[in-house]
Amino acid sequence: MKSRLGKVKTVIRRYRRAAQLAVLALLILSPFVNLFRFDVPSMSLYLFGTRLWVKHTFVFFMLLVTVIYVIIAASLLFGRVFCGWVCPQNLFNELTRSWDRRFGRIGSTLLSAVISLFGAFVVWSYFSDGRALLARYAAGQAPLGPSLFILGFGLFFTMAMAWWRTNVCRIVCPYGHLQSIISNAETMHLQVINLPGHRDICATCGLCAEICHMGVDPRTAEQKHCVVCGDCLDACALVSQARKVPRVLNFTIGSGERAVALRDRGRLWQNVRLLAPRLVLPLTLTLILGGLSAYMLATRPLVDLVVAKNHRQVLAAGGPVSSGSVMAVSVINLGDRGDTFRLYVEGLPENWAALERSDIHLAPGERASVTLRVHPTERVVGTHRFTVRVVGEGSGAEASFDTVHVVY
Ligand code: SF4
Ligand code: SF4
Repeated sequence: MKSRLGKVKTVIRRYRRAAQLAVLALLILSPFVNLFRFDVPSMSLYLFGTRLWVKHTFVFFMLLVTVIYVIIAASLLFGRVFCGWVCPQNLFNELTRSWDRRFGRIGSTLLSAVISLFGAFVVWSYFSDGRALLARYAAGQAPLGPSLFILGFGLFFTMAMAWWRTNVCRIVCPYGHLQSIISNAETMHLQVINLPGHRDICATCGLCAEICHMGVDPRTAEQKHCVVCGDCLDACALVSQARKVPRVLNFTIGSGERAVALRDRGRLWQNVRLLAPRLVLPLTLTLILGGLSAYMLATRPLVDLVVAKNHRQVLAAGGPVSSGSVMAVSVINLGDRGDTFRLYVEGLPENWAALERSDIHLAPGERASVTLRVHPTERVVGTHRFTVRVVGEGSGAEASFDTVHVVY
């Protein structure tokens, strides 16, 4: 049995492994190069190297919508392709099987534990500064909170890698259950196709089911756990080659009489033409959603300004007549670097407004309050509209707030 599987040339697996390893490398590097990371201590989010604050939640929301849409569209078209080609759990499902053979169950479990502890450290780095933690470990310190987090998650990952394995994908993972809801008859699936002139071509050898690490028999309709890895296709190719017949097991789109096989790896252009109509809508929507996300990211405000109206009124002597007021001007630096911000008051007659200070230096995410006194030098009854403006010297970031001062 083992030798039978050993003869299968796993061609598709090579491409898949390259994709899985590239994604794994990205996931490991991401928090250390601030590609994507929540920084819980500062309550901010790093995205593509820029820091976003709570005020920028709309950017994150738009990006999340884009990612969810891409995953759902890919699943609707190609099944659990995300599991087989992207998810690290499935990569380790396969690797641990070969580690069992090479190092025995105990050696495989120990290797899984080491990788799991590293994985838990990477997960922790998604929420805080991983390099700083590493420096503390190197200095002989072991902070309790992060260490418990890493040990807890490390144990969980070890269980997932060494014991639960494909049960995580089959039973626990919500995406797997979601897939069985969103797939339809047009979703890509595996099918034995009886080609014209080659009826009943399947040798019923069972090699395709034997090689499947997810325990699926690809000749049946029950394929909700299939992760589109392609191993069974390569197995079937071996059998068909030996029998000098075309390979019959294939990924198909459509169902019944309308089923069309994505047959030959060599005929890329035919496959593209076959898939193109199904790809137009998802690609168009992905471009629109992705473009909107990029636009929102590029045009997000970098400084915010709020003026608390009539923070304190200055009453004229002898009656309830407001002759002046004191307002609190709050400035918050929403950029990802420190900057000096200049404050201006526009729209009031000369000498009516006095800012406690006209410039202020703020670190990223820092907020400060400046007092603004509006004191008319002459009694001009009416509503006086004016604008408080702030401009960042380095970033050019700008914000303004319109308000009024009323003279009775
Ligand atoms: S049925 Fe085939 S493609 Fe699907 S998981 Fe099993 S081996 Fe991979
Ligand atoms: S490997 Fe191909 S020929 Fe053998 S049982 Fe599966 S589909 Fe049939």
